[in-house]
Amino acid sequence: MLKYRLFTPGPVAVPERVRRAMAGTLLHHRSPDFIPVMDEARKSLRKVFQTEHEVLILATSGTGAMEAAVANLTAPGDTAIVVRGGKFGERWAELCEAYGVTPVCIDVEWGHAVEPAAVKAAFAANPQAKLLFVQASETSTGAYHPIRELAAIANESPDRMIVVDGISGVGVHDLPMDAWGIDVMVSGSQKSWNLPPGLAFVALSPKAQERVKGGKQSRYYLDLRQELKAQKDNSTAWTPAVSLIAGLCESLRMILDEGLPAVLARHALLAKMTRHAMNAIGLELYAPVSPSFACTAIKVPAGVDGKKLIKHLQTRYSITVADGQSQAAGKIFRVGHMGDVDALDTITVIAAIEMALADLGHSVPLGKGVQEAMEIFRTAAAGSK
Ligand SMILES: *Cc1c(COP(=O)(O)O)cnc(C)c1O
Repeated sequence: MLKYRLFTPGPVAVPERVRRAMAGTLLHHRSPDFIPVMDEARKSLRKVFQTEHEVLILATSGTGAMEAAVANLTAPGDTAIVVRGGKFGERWAELCEAYGVTPVCIDVEWGHAVEPAAVKAAFAANPQAKLLFVQASETSTGAYHPIRELAAIANESPDRMIVVDGISGVGVHDLPMDAWGIDVMVSGSQKSWNLPPGLAFVALSPKAQERVKGGKQSRYYLDLRQELKAQKDNSTAWTPAVSLIAGLCESLRMILDEGLPAVLARHALLAKMTRHAMNAIGLELYAPVSPSFACTAIKVPAGVDGKKLIKHLQTRYSITVADGQSQAAGKIFRVGHMGDVDALDTITVIAAIEMALADLGHSVPLGKGVQEAMEIFRTAAAGSK
């Protein structure tokens, strides 16, 4: 029997400490006992988002936080610049359309990062556009967009804002919200937060909070005016996902005990081990130039059926990796680096990929990728002592 091993870029494997914290006595959300829980979660979330300002907690999946951003910051008839370089960039455009906002899409070839100059040009050509929607880590392609540069471009004019989908970015890449001038950043619990799905976060700069208060869209459940009012007092507008928030506190303790810089370095290391290992066995990366540290997207080699490879990893080796989405389905597979996976787990998934490829008749130098990953980890481990 093999252990169940989850290597998807959400949901992620949840550490035992967090699972235990969620199994504790269920507190009533309007009882005084819940206040310190909310208080701790809010304070610690700000540290990971690297902001002094409000990070709202919502009971939705990550998409709910994206929708909340669009519903609370736009008005019907607005124009917004959208970086569309994958499935989640498409989602920003679709959300804009759903709220009567015209998206001006910058189409980026999947696997690539947007060129900052393209965003600058889009703002220049569409002076009525005051919002930029972008992913930090575009999980569907494994690419990272240059958020620091994009925030600087958005901030060239004080009436513009940048909204970052940091669902697989926060707690993975260094995204100092306040220092870089990011106005809104969202995330979701089943990514770097070591939790099951069901919670989402929306961090708002003071400028974004003002915009929310003057918002012009119809909205109800995701009306952030209600949440800003309630969460300031460690309450929530509606019934919160109490058990997930208890788990969030424990997860945030783990993150802050390890230290945010170390957590970010860990994701970078696992991603690097995976990239080098795949290259060592002759596989190509889907996003080699600006890779995300949340997951590594690898091209399925010629002659191998991608769906079969993923299924074989599951049935023979009890390892779950993710397929590509839409146009990349069957052409790539994605190995996650978030959640309860460490360097030795990553060596395990690399070994399984090598074996699975060999099982499917692909000529692979068994152990070559593992060796590469071992060398990188050994050097990093020696350096951190
Ligand atoms: C996972 C993910 C989403 C979608 O979140 P859901 O929780 O599935 O709604 C959106 N954007 C990015 C970058 C993601 O990684």
